[in-house]
Amino acid sequence: MRIYHGKSVYGGIAIGKIKVHNREDVTVKRIRVEVPEQEVNRYESAKETAMKQLKTLYDKACAEVGDANAAIFEIHQMMLEDADYQESIRHIIRTQKVNAEYAVATTGRNFSNIFSTMEDAYMQARAEDVRDISERLITILAGGEQQRQQEEEPMILAAEDLVPSETVQLDKSKVLAFVTVKGSANSHTAILARTMNIPAIVGIDLPLDDTIDGKIVIVNGTQGIVYVEPEPEILERMKEKQQEERQQRELLQSLKGKESVTLDGKKICLYANIGNSKDLALVLQNDADGIGLFRSEFIYLEREKFPTEEEQFHIYKTVAETMAGKKTIIRTLDIGADKQAGYFHLEPEENPAMGLRAIRLCLTRPEIFKTQLRALFRAAVFGDLAVMYPMITSVNEVRRIQEVVAEVTAELKKEDIPYRVPEQGIMIETPAAVMVSDMLAKEVEFFSIGTNDLSQYTMAIDRQNPHLDSFFEPHSEAVLRMIAMTVENAHKEGIWVGICGELGSDTALTERFLKMGVDELSVAPGHVLSVRKAIRETDLNA
Ligand code: PEP
Ligand code: MG
Repeated sequence: MRIYHGKSVYGGIAIGKIKVHNREDVTVKRIRVEVPEQEVNRYESAKETAMKQLKTLYDKACAEVGDANAAIFEIHQMMLEDADYQESIRHIIRTQKVNAEYAVATTGRNFSNIFSTMEDAYMQARAEDVRDISERLITILAGGEQQRQQEEEPMILAAEDLVPSETVQLDKSKVLAFVTVKGSANSHTAILARTMNIPAIVGIDLPLDDTIDGKIVIVNGTQGIVYVEPEPEILERMKEKQQEERQQRELLQSLKGKESVTLDGKKICLYANIGNSKDLALVLQNDADGIGLFRSEFIYLEREKFPTEEEQFHIYKTVAETMAGKKTIIRTLDIGADKQAGYFHLEPEENPAMGLRAIRLCLTRPEIFKTQLRALFRAAVFGDLAVMYPMITSVNEVRRIQEVVAEVTAELKKEDIPYRVPEQGIMIETPAAVMVSDMLAKEVEFFSIGTNDLSQYTMAIDRQNPHLDSFFEPHSEAVLRMIAMTVENAHKEGIWVGICGELGSDTALTERFLKMGVDELSVAPGHVLSVRKAIRETDLNA
């Protein structure tokens, strides 16, 4: 038995034969031609065929994984129509008097190199797309059908990498799982895999040769492990696990598309928490009604320098567009305490959880805050975005935030940049905020209760300190009363209130929360369906 480790893209266990997929290398030769116009015509007709193929792929993907995830094939169509890309191909054919294949390959390589050296992550991702469309054109010009040969027997696919068009063409009834040596959990391929419910691992150091091909393997997508020629006990254990997972999934799957509504008819907004636009697929896959907490600080933590306004704008816009009209609440930068990024150069603190963090940092360094607000307000034009501010303790802080908001909107207006001031709310995660929640409710449009910090500050238990576990009461009456008080004060002022801390997914408390009047629960994507089950089993009149 050999064991390989990689990055989990999608959980689940698959057992079967592995097939090494080698993308046919279409070697492109440079051939001199006498009549370049004939080559230009060959290129034009290959482009038409490619457009038709992409339209078919788009329709297939729409039906299987939804419009938002199918959008990549629309992007490919747009790239094929790009005037610079087309002009470069025609120009190479005409000036160098060469075959269309060579002109497409050269243009594809040049454009892809340009994109991959750009700083913007969104533009870098386009490098892969240019390669993909150029390969498609070359395959058509070479007379091939860009159709991956499907195996008769369902198998586990191993490849160096998979481009999105290859992933969507996989026949799900024939592919049990896929593992790739390259690829990031961030790629379109990974997003598609998640939505397609195929166990998948990327970044695995698997030799793609005869030592693997055709062998029996186990893919444990959840843990990112591949066992090649597994020992009988492992095989038995994994089969049992597979069976358990299947039963649990099936039970919950039946709740997809169903309303998050109590037995007596109260509709609850059941949203998901994410840390990155990478997690969007999980939101869709688990059928969340929206995003209740996007922890935007992860955008900062993943980088070595401040994300620019443009970078942030693209991320927020992508999220807003992908959520297609469903509410998406983005929390502004909550850095400090356990979440540190060196380039902020924050002074070491004696008590970081009570230190210069979250909104305090944003109000102290308005240039950072303003960049994020500009990006958020610009992205709000593209969907139902809402913004919430973390670690609020007083009305005064909310007013200071509003002063910055006014400056930002005045600047955007002056610069004639389209923007929209989205719905604005605050996190209730300090006892101070709970105690003045009647006053705060007059200042904002919603509350979201952060039970992780609220528990830490109410019980005076450092959430990072494992030695305090025996003192930590997960269902602390003190915290539950704080929640009840917040809900009451929010409703008196006619604003809605949700819970986005971990307690929100504790199904032992769902009934209690709903009886308090909580309007929204935002939980990890993998918990959405189990919380929906609990909501649907609650009777508020009982
Ligand atoms: C919380 O404090 O409950 C919360 C949701 O925010 P975070 O866990 O990111 O501090
Ligand atoms: Mg918090």
